[in-house]
Amino acid sequence: MKIAVLPGDGIGTEIVAEAVKVLRALDLKFEMEEALVGGAAYDAHGHPLPESTLKLAKAADAVLFGAVGDWKYDKLDRPLRPEQAILGLRKNLGLFANFRPAICYPQLVGASSLKPELVSGLDILIIRELTGDIYFGQPRGRRTASDGHFPGAEEAFDTMRYSKPEIERIAHVAFQAARKRNKKVTSVDKANVLETFQFWKDVVTEVHAQYPDVQLEHMYVDNAAMQLVKAPKSFDVLVTGNMFGDILSDEASMLTGSIGMLPSASLNAANQGLYEPSHGSAPDIAGKGVANPLATILSAAMMLRFSLGQAEAAARIEAAVQNVLAQGLRTADIYSEGTTRVGTREMGDAVVKALA
Ligand code: NAD
Repeated sequence: MKIAVLPGDGIGTEIVAEAVKVLRALDLKFEMEEALVGGAAYDAHGHPLPESTLKLAKAADAVLFGAVGDWKYDKLDRPLRPEQAILGLRKNLGLFANFRPAICYPQLVGASSLKPELVSGLDILIIRELTGDIYFGQPRGRRTASDGHFPGAEEAFDTMRYSKPEIERIAHVAFQAARKRNKKVTSVDKANVLETFQFWKDVVTEVHAQYPDVQLEHMYVDNAAMQLVKAPKSFDVLVTGNMFGDILSDEASMLTGSIGMLPSASLNAANQGLYEPSHGSAPDIAGKGVANPLATILSAAMMLRFSLGQAEAAARIEAAVQNVLAQGLRTADIYSEGTTRVGTREMGDAVVKALA
């Protein structure tokens, strides 16, 4: 089992170190190789996704990714910015389906910003399409009134687009995931305003004909944003495009107590995947040893389940995470009175101990 380990920037290095520690504590044989990505790779090689890093990721069964980005790179040309590394990896590995489960562990019900009765027992799955939408649509750019070129632009534009095959394959993923859960899919769109999302809605409806055992509902994204905080448990599987999924999954993270709890998996058609926490590089707390490593550790569990065929080991890690939460151990982001505050490394050590 070959794992490419790409810690990245900011808290990325701190949290990935804990996930690697947990993987090493399992009695499984992994070949893990680490490489630079994001701002760290730009500093060393002049590019956020060097050829050598991409080669390593392509040759691996799975990629364990931390986070990339820092404000100090904001002035770089867009293709050289750290965040481009994730887009490049998604594109080159064909990762089109992003799974973000939002589960509220019983011990963290009080850490959510919502009332306990709204989130207690919450277990929803957000599936975000990753390769289309306004993030990749052409044309895009900036224009001046006179010569059509940046700089001195007076207008900027990005184009929203989806192809039928792109919508079909993510719809299949959503219906198949729902079959293994509570058999309900909510397709989130903006069909009332955007042509792209009327098309999305039509194609999802067409694919649904092959899944009569799964209930399908359509919801506008503004309503979905509201329902996620009003009645989050009314969802089972929520499927949406790249941009709406980006935003709604961050919103859903707060239902679970903290963005530091939310793992994610990005899969291609061959179940090769990139596994990363849903949060970013958190430059505000980087280097302080206080970041929550649980989202990354839970991402490693998803990696074992989805890409490496080790469902039992994945369940062991998830049980160990529940165990440390039950012991009352909390990093700062999920701390509440009466619990024990620990740092990144202590949290990782506690998970390893609980595994044993
Ligand atoms: P962020 O997710 O890095 O941080 C948002 C807030 O959540 C911060 O207050 C941070 O301290 C907190 N936070 C995040 N992860 C945490 C953890 N594990 N434990 C405790 N607290 C945590 O988002 P941002 O501040 O908007 O972006 C920072 C940088 O990360 C930017 O450069 C952005 O582009 C990048 N980013 C990268 C990814 C990625 O690598 N996939 C995703 C989102 C943002």
